[in-house]
Amino acid sequence: MDKDKIFSAIKSEVELIAGELKALALDIWEHPELAWKEFYAAEKLTKFLQDHAIAAQANYLDFPTAFRGDVSFKPGATFALAAEYDALPPGHACGHNLIGTAAVGAAIAAARVMKKLELPGTLVIMGTPAEESGGGKVKMLQKGALNGIDAVMMAHPSWRTQPDPGSTAIRRWNVTFHGVSSHAAAAPELGVNALDAVMMLFNAVSFQRQQMPDACRIHGIVTHGGKMPNIIPESASCCFYLRSSNEEWMEKLDGRFDNMVKGVAMACGCTYTKEKFSIDCRSRKPNAFLNKAYCDAMRQQGENIPVEYPEGRGSSDFGDFSRAIPGAHPYFGIADHKIGAHSIEFQEASRSELGLASMLKAAVALAYSACKFLNDEEFRNEVKADFAR
Ligand SMILES: [Zn+2]
Repeated sequence: MDKDKIFSAIKSEVELIAGELKALALDIWEHPELAWKEFYAAEKLTKFLQDHAIAAQANYLDFPTAFRGDVSFKPGATFALAAEYDALPPGHACGHNLIGTAAVGAAIAAARVMKKLELPGTLVIMGTPAEESGGGKVKMLQKGALNGIDAVMMAHPSWRTQPDPGSTAIRRWNVTFHGVSSHAAAAPELGVNALDAVMMLFNAVSFQRQQMPDACRIHGIVTHGGKMPNIIPESASCCFYLRSSNEEWMEKLDGRFDNMVKGVAMACGCTYTKEKFSIDCRSRKPNAFLNKAYCDAMRQQGENIPVEYPEGRGSSDFGDFSRAIPGAHPYFGIADHKIGAHSIEFQEASRSELGLASMLKAAVALAYSACKFLNDEEFRNEVKADFAR
C-alpha cells in the first residue's frame, strides 16, 4: 500500500469531520473536570465515537471515566491511541480538551481508511482519565489496559510542534511536621515550631539544587503554615514534587529528600509524617520510529519542526505506558511564541483558532502513524527493535 495514498485518505477523512471536532474540543474546554471526575468529557467523546461507527464503551476496566473502542476489518497487529481529557483547577490549562478530541478524530479517520483500503490489524481508542494528578494510566496499566496491544501513541499540545523528547519520572510527597503550640510572645520557650521545619526544608531543598544534575527538578508549596502569628504552629505542611529523567537519579533524589526531612525535623525538635500525594510515574521512553512517523506527517501538513529540542522536563503517566510497550507522546504547537503549559495563556491557546487547527493536524499525524504501524511490517519491526534497545 502506497504511504502517500494512506496519508491523503486520512487527511480527507479528518477534513470531513473537522467542524465537528472543533466544536467537540470547544465543548470540552467549556466543561473542565478534574481527575477521575471527567464524566462530561468521557460521555461526549464516547458518544462521538459511537456516532461515527466506533462502538466505544465507557467504564473500561471499571474506571467510570475511562473508555475503549476497537476497530478491525482484517487480522493483524494492534495499535492504541490514548485520549486524555482531565483539566486543572483553573480549567483546560494543559489543553487536554485538544488531546482527547485529536485522539478520537484520529481513530475515526483511521478506522474509515482501514475499511476503505482494507488495511489489516486492530485500532484501539482508549480514554485514559486522571493524567494531571491521579496517575490514571499507571492504574489502568496495573489492570492490564495494554494487554494484547503492540504500540501506543498520543499527541499533546505545546507551544510548538516537536517529537516526544521524553519526560521525567515523578514522585510527590506531602510532609507534615508536628510540634507544640504556645503563645509566641508570652511563652515562646514552651513551643516547638513546626513552621520552622517547613521553612528549613525549603532552604535545604534550595541548597540541594546546587548538587543536582540538570536531569532533576524539585519544587514545592506550603500547604499549611499555621493559624495565627501569636500561636506557635504545632503543625505545618508542605507538598514537594521530585522529578528526574534518569531513574537512578530519581532514587538518589528521593533518598536525599528523605534525609532533608529527617534533618530539619531533628533540628527543630519536631516529628513528621511523610505520605505520597499521588501515584508515582516513570520517565518516558520515546520510540524514535513512532516519533518520526508523526513528524513526517506533521511536516507534510506544513509544520516546521525544530531539529534541536531540549530533553522534556514535564512528567506524565504516559511514561509507564511507554515502558510497557513501544510508545510516543509527541507535541503539536498551539502558540506563535513560547508559552508554558499550566498557565492562563495556555488555557486560552487551547481554544484558539491556531490550537484547533493544530489539533486537526495532530489527528492526521496520529492516524497516519497508526495506519503505518498496522500496514507496514518493516516499520513495525523498527519500532519494536527501538523499544528493545
Ligand atoms: Zn498535559
